[in-house]
Amino acid sequence: MSYLVLARKWRPQNFDEVIGQEHIVRTLTNAIAQNKIHHAFLFTGSRGVGKTTSARLLAKALCCEKDGPTAHPCGVCTSCKSIAAGNSVDVLEIDGASNTGVDSVRDLRDKVQYRPQHARYKIYIIDEVHMLSTAAFNALLKTLEEPPEHVKFIFATTESHKIPQTILSRCQRYDFKLLSETDMVKSLEAIIGAEGYSAEDGVLRMVARMARGSMRDSQSLMDRVLAYAEDKFLKLDDARTVLGVIDSNLFHAIGHALVERNPEAAFDAVEQLSAYGHDLRQFGQEFIGYLRNCVLCKSHPKPQNVLDLPEGELDEIKKVASQAEMTVLTAWFDLMVVGQEQLARAEQPRYILEMTLAKMLQIAELKPLSHLLAELGRAGAGGQGGGGGSSSGSSGGGYRRGSSPVAGGGAQHTYKTQQAQSPQNPQGQQAEQAEQPKAAEAPKQIYKTGEQLGAGELPAWWKALVESSKKIDRLLWGALQTAGVKEGEQSADILYNPGNGVAEKLTQKGVLAQIEKLASDLLDKPYSLKLVERGDEDGEAPLSLDRQRRMEGQKKRAEARQTAESDPLVVAVRKQFEGGDLKVKLACPTPQ
Ligand SMILES: [Zn+2]
Repeated sequence: MSYLVLARKWRPQNFDEVIGQEHIVRTLTNAIAQNKIHHAFLFTGSRGVGKTTSARLLAKALCCEKDGPTAHPCGVCTSCKSIAAGNSVDVLEIDGASNTGVDSVRDLRDKVQYRPQHARYKIYIIDEVHMLSTAAFNALLKTLEEPPEHVKFIFATTESHKIPQTILSRCQRYDFKLLSETDMVKSLEAIIGAEGYSAEDGVLRMVARMARGSMRDSQSLMDRVLAYAEDKFLKLDDARTVLGVIDSNLFHAIGHALVERNPEAAFDAVEQLSAYGHDLRQFGQEFIGYLRNCVLCKSHPKPQNVLDLPEGELDEIKKVASQAEMTVLTAWFDLMVVGQEQLARAEQPRYILEMTLAKMLQIAELKPLSHLLAELGRAGAGGQGGGGGSSSGSSGGGYRRGSSPVAGGGAQHTYKTQQAQSPQNPQGQQAEQAEQPKAAEAPKQIYKTGEQLGAGELPAWWKALVESSKKIDRLLWGALQTAGVKEGEQSADILYNPGNGVAEKLTQKGVLAQIEKLASDLLDKPYSLKLVERGDEDGEAPLSLDRQRRMEGQKKRAEARQTAESDPLVVAVRKQFEGGDLKVKLACPTPQ
């Protein structure tokens, strides 16, 4: 007897033998048992998952001469035997791919009218039905709508989306799943056992993995492994060789090389891949999968639930994943995906792979960033003289919070505190609500004239006066921001630039008097004010609040930048990018 390939030899002869499609088997057998049998079925799913097999089983179940239709066809009657052998005159298997035209369907339509010769039903199994032309589908439609009692249709397709809705809606649809590796391993184990073989650990799983969910593929791969085997024992190395599978240890080797920042080990592994004659594009593809597994292992508390991997393998991946930051893992993944696109087109795939790994190794060098942050955080807690606030913890986050020049949070905090302390306020409108209740509660503050002022500084009473002027008139308050003041013992000159609205406001009836009253209250003595246009001889001094703030802002920005530039973290990061053009950007545009 000639050699029968495993896929044919071990084709399920009964619904019980169908693997991985329990949901379909159950629905079909129930329908048969209850005699609620639709006239058209659509079996959809990837190749090699059991669609045609199930179609034949269904045909057998419907036509079995013993108690048929039955969910358990006898397998020995003429009908069962002829269907299993594929030579039943009443069960017609049509390849949709080679009978795409309307003529084939017309022919079918004509023959549908004749009763079956032997079997109970005339059954049309149309494989790859999505290949039919539109005209063919249209021709089929009428028959599908009102088929003769004795006719059943079973359509199989890998691409159900290509089937017109009109056809789909007239079929009972069954979606076949990809088989899990575990299911395939079980099945392969039974098969090789029955064939008198045994296998080294890992062989069956390797075959199952390569088959990517297709039982038929797993069986044809197994055919090759069996043909290579000696003494009915399947060795892992042999299987790898005959299937061209890349040793999973090579993936782990590269994974470890990356986390340990060991270029030598990484390039050695590439050399090994090359020496074994592996397809580097295939490796790239699989390494993407490996990195994905690392990410899942890192982020899922029970990775075994989402990764169909043997325990040893899973442990190895966990080891690699635990040593790398999540951000680094995902960055590696991105790099590998880009690298893979280049690998696919490259004339020298090895160069591309090596350069991709080199880039990944560079990212790995950033790995200790969090450690670095943690260390710096500890250092910071001991006395970091940064921008404001003190470092609050040993974690990286704590460090960043404490150091205002590089982070927004700390600066924000400092800003608010200062607002509460002083009426000086760059965004007065924002602070208004916060300010007013405080002013009401605070005890009255008495200011003095003649305090020692630095160059261009404004007396405190003036600042308070400008702030209070907001209650009189917001526009006045805005105008006074641009005015300077030259104080004397009993009176002061308000210096203004024409066009800033100061003179316009203060010359309004009663306004100057109100301001003078404010000044007298603040200074607790009678005090008069005079409007003076700022002359050339006055220059910029005394400054206006506006100008003073701008200058302070500039000064503070410069200081903050300098603090940021000399921040140990920034220095460390800059060192990582030696020579790179790294700009320090302040998170808070106007630090306080
Ligand atoms: Zn039978």
